[in-house]
Amino acid sequence: MSIFSHPEFDQHEQVNFFHDKETGLKAIIAVHNSNRGPALGGCRMWQYGSDAEALTDVLRLSKGMTYKSALANLDLGGGKSVIIGNPREHKSEALLEMMGRALESLSGRYIAAEDSGTSVPDLQVMARHTHYVAGITERTGIDGLPCNGDPSPATAYGTFVGLKAAVAHKFGTQDLTGLRVAIQGVGNVGFRLAKHLHEAGAELIVSDIYPAFVERAVNGLGATAVAADAILAQEVDVVAPCALGATINDQSLALMKAKVIAGAANNQLEHAAHDQQVRDAGILYAPDFAINAGGIIDIFYERTGHTPDKVRTHIETIGDTLAEIFKRSDASGEGTGVIANRLAEERFIR
Ligand code: NAD
Repeated sequence: MSIFSHPEFDQHEQVNFFHDKETGLKAIIAVHNSNRGPALGGCRMWQYGSDAEALTDVLRLSKGMTYKSALANLDLGGGKSVIIGNPREHKSEALLEMMGRALESLSGRYIAAEDSGTSVPDLQVMARHTHYVAGITERTGIDGLPCNGDPSPATAYGTFVGLKAAVAHKFGTQDLTGLRVAIQGVGNVGFRLAKHLHEAGAELIVSDIYPAFVERAVNGLGATAVAADAILAQEVDVVAPCALGATINDQSLALMKAKVIAGAANNQLEHAAHDQQVRDAGILYAPDFAINAGGIIDIFYERTGHTPDKVRTHIETIGDTLAEIFKRSDASGEGTGVIANRLAEERFIR
């Protein structure tokens, strides 16, 4: 297993391996780039098939965080951590405390947040031994409601702002009245996005594999439900993927009628080549890591002390960043994803 010549290494500043025999902790903490500030990113716990798989995942995700935070104009670098193990079987208080000690040993070069396989209570256990965890403080969220660290309201608001910027660019209007939007997945982010859109007068078509969530959107927001495998082919103006990755692929593009893709899901492009294919099909794609940055913005302000207004104002800059990406993409003819990467690099490479 190579490190410096690993295909995902991409000039990481630091890759740390931690092991503790007593608690069984096996963890990797990667710091991709800290030019803009300390590296912040989720701490994932996962039963990887091999150590090599864990390394690939942490390197790829860590780099992604550098790009996301830079694009969001945050004074943060990019990093990520993985704990190797099944969260249902191998997670213990002692292991989480040991992870806290590992985090502390890096003196703040990396700050951990919640991710797949870890929860806010898990991070609170780590915090017994470190200052360097984020997203765990009770506070007032951007919607004015008490918030326990869940970034979903901020992510949903940022996605709404970004969707509006995409609609303004593609259709030349700020008015969402009557706009038809298909939302794939009405969970934490998707349902909140649906609420914003409903309040703005949009017409909603939704799908979810969890029937109770579909009902919530149908009964509460007047949405129309469609089958999960039909959502991306609806006769709509906008598709908002808010469930899983790789939704933009050869099959979905062949059937898609929407002219805008603007949703919160991570890693929406199945392959890098789909970025250009989307553009060539006349569809405007709001790059996922630009439009779904509301959560990381929220977490950043938790650490600096903030008012919900300040967070909201920063989240609204997602619209400006996307407008810049769309403009550059039109000028060069390249896909919006490529442009977003380049804009992020302008913001973090010194
Ligand atoms: P969630 O689990 O609360 O919601 C996802 C929903 O999608 C669930 O209701 C699930 O039943 C549904 N779903 C799964 N497969 C589906 C399918 N094939 N068709 C339709 N629905 C399906 O997760 P979330 O927090 O709302 O996050 C949604 C997406 O946004 C994820 O890709 C996540 O990585 C990304 N994201 C979330 C945040 C955040 O703050 N929560 C931040 C950035 C990115």
